[in-house]
Amino acid sequence: MVESKRKGTPANIKHKKDARICIIGGGPAGLTSALYLNQKGFTNITLLEKEESVGGKALTVDLEDSSGIIKNYELGAEYITYTYDHIFYLCKLLNESTSTASSIKIINKTGKTPRFLDPMKVEPFFPIFIAVIKYLLIGFWYRKLINAPNNLGIKDHKLLTMSLKDFMDKYKLKYLKAFFLNVGFGYNLDREFPVIFVYRMLKPRLMLRILGSKIPIVKNLFKRPIAAIAEDGTQGLYKKLAAYLNRSQKEQMVFTNQKVTKISRDNQKKTGSITITINDNKEQEFDVLIFGLPPVFMLKMMEHEQLSEKEISLFSKFKFHPYYVSMFETIHHESNPLPKYYYNNIFPDTLNGKTQPEPVQFTKRWDDTNLIARGYNWELAKIFDSNDPEKLKNIEDVFKTFMKERMEVPEYKLMESSKIYPIVDKYWDTYFPHVSIEDLRNGFYEEFESLQGKDNTYFVGSSLTFEMMETTAAYSEYLVERYF
Ligand SMILES: Cc1cc2nc3c(=O)[nH]c(=O)nc-3n(C[C@H](O)[C@H](O)[C@H](O)COP(=O)(O)OP(=O)(O)OC[C@H]3O[C@@H](n4cnc5c(N)ncnc54)[C@H](O)[C@@H]3O)c2cc1C
Repeated sequence: MVESKRKGTPANIKHKKDARICIIGGGPAGLTSALYLNQKGFTNITLLEKEESVGGKALTVDLEDSSGIIKNYELGAEYITYTYDHIFYLCKLLNESTSTASSIKIINKTGKTPRFLDPMKVEPFFPIFIAVIKYLLIGFWYRKLINAPNNLGIKDHKLLTMSLKDFMDKYKLKYLKAFFLNVGFGYNLDREFPVIFVYRMLKPRLMLRILGSKIPIVKNLFKRPIAAIAEDGTQGLYKKLAAYLNRSQKEQMVFTNQKVTKISRDNQKKTGSITITINDNKEQEFDVLIFGLPPVFMLKMMEHEQLSEKEISLFSKFKFHPYYVSMFETIHHESNPLPKYYYNNIFPDTLNGKTQPEPVQFTKRWDDTNLIARGYNWELAKIFDSNDPEKLKNIEDVFKTFMKERMEVPEYKLMESSKIYPIVDKYWDTYFPHVSIEDLRNGFYEEFESLQGKDNTYFVGSSLTFEMMETTAAYSEYLVERYF
């Protein structure tokens, strides 16, 4: 591979307010970058989204249950927790109402009867209390890095880069497992999940909010719930943001059905050095590029000769955890309604002596319908994507048993897509972009940050912080503040 001969732009250059800025990707990262640029006075922004609608991993679908009730359901992001300052700001700006998400239940791991784990009740009070104090003190000590919008400086702290499992062993925090499950059910916490991410999802502030809800006089003092949902759906929030952005600029800003298929950069040119090819047939010139999807996709869109060895090596390091979400309806279940949220499967479970492949999540979004979203990740998600009939049947059998024995649901019906409701499930292949703990320790994020602005190209998105809407928006704000 040839090292790029181009000089590159100094990283902290501030751009002209009328620079032609192209943002690729209409997910939370691309849209919030556009918002902060617009608020800073940039007037020539074009955002290109390949899908029919913006939202990215926020995907809300309307569905009808068998009694004819139509409601919105989430196949992607759903929860807005107490510490989501940027997202609550968006809700306010866009007049999006939120309501309190129902309390989360974690189904018990062993035994046949469903039993729910309450973080405060599963273990004796005193050890939980000590563990909480330790967690809060550590969080207070590292508060700057935990609250930072980027991942810089984390590599120098052994504690923040150890895996959650090692952290729980070393600091005797096993009593907090149910807390971690509550907020981190989707990530598969025992794999390569560093402590910094634990603190990003369960900030000490959120922990205090959860504890405060147990104290009668204190619990009504909080303005925000522990977790909220957007009433028009999470994707609805981002669609509103796109409409707001289109109104905020003279020319239309957000364009859908625009798949970027090629990027080329010509550093000899003073302006218009970036050429974007859309849907394989249309070319457009820009001065600045903001890449709002995982950087590994740069490798597909650019000729490798145009990339430096460092870029190729850094882009290649991203990994994902596949996640599959589908909908089903429970039948004859009225007498024993399911609680709203069940989470399971962070650590392997056993039933009748065998390790069970199990769903991660069940989400009953509305009280008055029996439609439930179920989510699987990792290898299980891949089975759903494989379309292998035998494997699919096996996994459905496991699910049936699980529903009957653990959740006391005798019958259910999987939702099927129809003309009116075409989307009833979603396989996410870019869920949780991250690098290994080893790469994190070796200074991956410091190296990546040094690429920002080179050749007028920037990167935003959960890949550069952590897979949450809040951290994604905070990073967009940081990038615009720092470089524009
Ligand atoms: C099942 C699930 C549940 C989740 N639950 C929560 C939750 O409860 N709370 C929370 O805070 N977060 C949650 N998340 C995470 C949250 O959705 C992500 O952190 C967030 O969407 C990341 O935003 P992003 O813009 O970086 O990436 P994305 O959302 O992936 O957006 C990238 C965008 O780029 C577009 N794109 C891709 N290729 C091209 C191309 N060639 N040309 C043009 N556009 C392109 C994509 O279509 C997409 O719109 C969840 C995610 C999933 C999948």
